[in-house]
Amino acid sequence: MSHVLAADIGGTNMRLAMIDQQGRILKESRVQTELSQHSAASQAEAEAHIITTLSQAMQSFLADAYHVNNRDTDGRDAVRSIGIGFPGFFHGDSGVLAASPNLPLLHDFALAELLADALGMTVSVQNDALCAAVGEHRFGAGQGKRNLLHITLGTGVGGGLILNHQPYSGEHGMAMEFGHLCVETHHPRRCGCGNAGCVESYASASAIKQRYSDATGNSLGTKAIYQLANEGDDCAMTIVQQAGAYLGQAIAEAIKLLDISTVTISGGLSKAWPMLYPPMMDALNTHLIPPLRGKVQVLRSTLADNAGLLGAASIATP
Ligand SMILES: [Zn+2]
Repeated sequence: MSHVLAADIGGTNMRLAMIDQQGRILKESRVQTELSQHSAASQAEAEAHIITTLSQAMQSFLADAYHVNNRDTDGRDAVRSIGIGFPGFFHGDSGVLAASPNLPLLHDFALAELLADALGMTVSVQNDALCAAVGEHRFGAGQGKRNLLHITLGTGVGGGLILNHQPYSGEHGMAMEFGHLCVETHHPRRCGCGNAGCVESYASASAIKQRYSDATGNSLGTKAIYQLANEGDDCAMTIVQQAGAYLGQAIAEAIKLLDISTVTISGGLSKAWPMLYPPMMDALNTHLIPPLRGKVQVLRSTLADNAGLLGAASIATP
């Protein structure tokens, strides 16, 4: 059985991995990308920049992988398809990017097709948070569940939905914009989406850093803030616990629409799990409609930070 090349792409870096059919990561690398900072003047220029950047990084990763594994020409045939998780909205499974908040020049960009032409391989692309949901459903804490809501806690807050064992992306590729559920109306914090009071403005890594900096004047990373919280620093504890409570509230709102029993959470912030979990479950059960209280389980990802990569591998053509 052949291997696939999986890519989890962010605004500033991308992870590439060769993955087998059992979801084992055989080789991995992290590459700096500046997709969002490229000063392209037109859509055509922005598209060309992305295709060149991605295809060069992938070709160089594969050349290195074959060299390390001492593969010959037959080995090269081992990877024939690529699966990509990309931050943006896609038209169904077409691999056509409808739009991306971080790459405003791009509209209806045939990412999969153009990259396939550049690399001579089959390419499948889907929204990054939906890929993480697919990975968690196939290999992680959501394995075997009929329905699953997966939340990614990173620089932003993302969501992906599995319904009847199938990824659900909505009619415009924009379903489960979980990070932009409104959880606060009293002096709400502004959100990058243009609204205010979104859960992303409280529970993302960038929000936690910003809130800590606003309150204390100290610019610290999330790791340092968790450390302080664990040592009993009042301000750090309050911010992390409030992030958990807002998450629980947003999950309750999503469950009111979906009535599903399993939620999984992945991403860097899930490392603060022991402190996030109790206020999250309290808020979840407070805001759920009474018959559903106690019926929803929220599980930490069992895939470390690999849910997105494994999901990208899963959507690649076998
Ligand atoms: Zn928002």
